[in-house]
Amino acid sequence: MDSSAPIVVQKFGGTSVADTERIRAVADHVVRTVRHGERPVVVVSAMGKETDDLLRAARDVAASPPGREMDMLVTAGERKAMALVCMAINDLGVPSESFTGSQAGFLTDGTHTDARILDVRPDRIRAAIEAGRVPVVGGAQGVSDTNDVTFLGRGGSDTTAVALAHALGARSCELYTDVSGVFTTDPRVVSEARRMDRISFDELLEMTANGCPKPAMRSVEFARTHGVDLHIRSAFTWEQGTWVSKEEEFMEQAIVSAVVHDTDEAKVTILGVPDRPGIAAGLFRSLADAAVNVDMIVQNTSADGHTDISFTVPHGDLAVAIPVCERVASEVGATRVTTDDGIARVSVVGAGMRSHPGVAATVFETLAGNGINIEMISTSAIRISCVVRQDQVEQAVQHLHDAFSLADGPKLVD
Ligand code: ASP
Ligand code: MG
Repeated sequence: MDSSAPIVVQKFGGTSVADTERIRAVADHVVRTVRHGERPVVVVSAMGKETDDLLRAARDVAASPPGREMDMLVTAGERKAMALVCMAINDLGVPSESFTGSQAGFLTDGTHTDARILDVRPDRIRAAIEAGRVPVVGGAQGVSDTNDVTFLGRGGSDTTAVALAHALGARSCELYTDVSGVFTTDPRVVSEARRMDRISFDELLEMTANGCPKPAMRSVEFARTHGVDLHIRSAFTWEQGTWVSKEEEFMEQAIVSAVVHDTDEAKVTILGVPDRPGIAAGLFRSLADAAVNVDMIVQNTSADGHTDISFTVPHGDLAVAIPVCERVASEVGATRVTTDDGIARVSVVGAGMRSHPGVAATVFETLAGNGINIEMISTSAIRISCVVRQDQVEQAVQHLHDAFSLADGPKLVD
């Protein structure tokens, strides 16, 4: 391989390497990349649903398996996939060598099952590239300062790929998956959803934080911080997908780029909270101490010295949040706590709305015009989110996608 050829990181998700036939297809693509004059560095996820199977097995043998052993177990999924991919590449006549996270130089903290990357020292990967071999790296794994195997959490292979692309100075990082890119909305909900040619880091970050399942939010954050261009594309059709890059590189901005929805949250309301300093502080500190992940906080203007506070939490955190809220409510003399798990959130995202008035009005008119009641509203500079009834959220997505004509191509800020 030509030592001036660009390095490109290619990450293959679970469905891309689901069986041996898929693995041969991936190997074939990697070899084509080499023939094309690039130097690929491959990152793999575990095959198919193997991570889920391993997590289930752990729960079958132990009520609370130790984190260290969980990581040892789960990372075995990626290790199996990387060896098979490597064998398949070798079989096509291109030398290839596999590396665990530790061998690839991923140093992490010791937070088992959700470790953070502290440093990437990919000396062995560089040496392999220079020797003309294709490195294949196990995703979502590293080694802690106590020399234990660590797992970077669900979706961690995306983060491995982006971090490696940054450390190697790769030209770009390709994330191969089972969809052909980033869509204007979930194509399972709106069949006219359109694949975008490109989107900015900021927009994709808002999308992943508000219900878009892929790529993993942490990897997008990392890519934005370090300016690693991403290319999200299909390992089934191999066609061009969606490029993700800095907004500054865009000539023009879409007013609205995408509509996303999230059905994973419940609403908690504390009614009749005395309006004085320290109440919100006490409540949210207690929730934080209980590791409840709070989102979308709304407090009303107080009338007669009392106010209501509402917020959303992931369904999985509700059971922990309720007793905390009830305790705080009784301590401060609030009226009562109510919860509602029949909600969903719909969000409209677009970098151009920063400078273009009227987007919020269109969102609210569209929902109103279709008889959809808005229960909570929150915004960022480039996002408008509404909490609505869960059984109306898909309708809301459809109508908003239509209202902004997203199927037709982006409407640009003029
Ligand atoms: N295999 C792991 C998961 O399914 C890690 C990854 O692929 O990102 O979450
Ligand atoms: Mg995955």
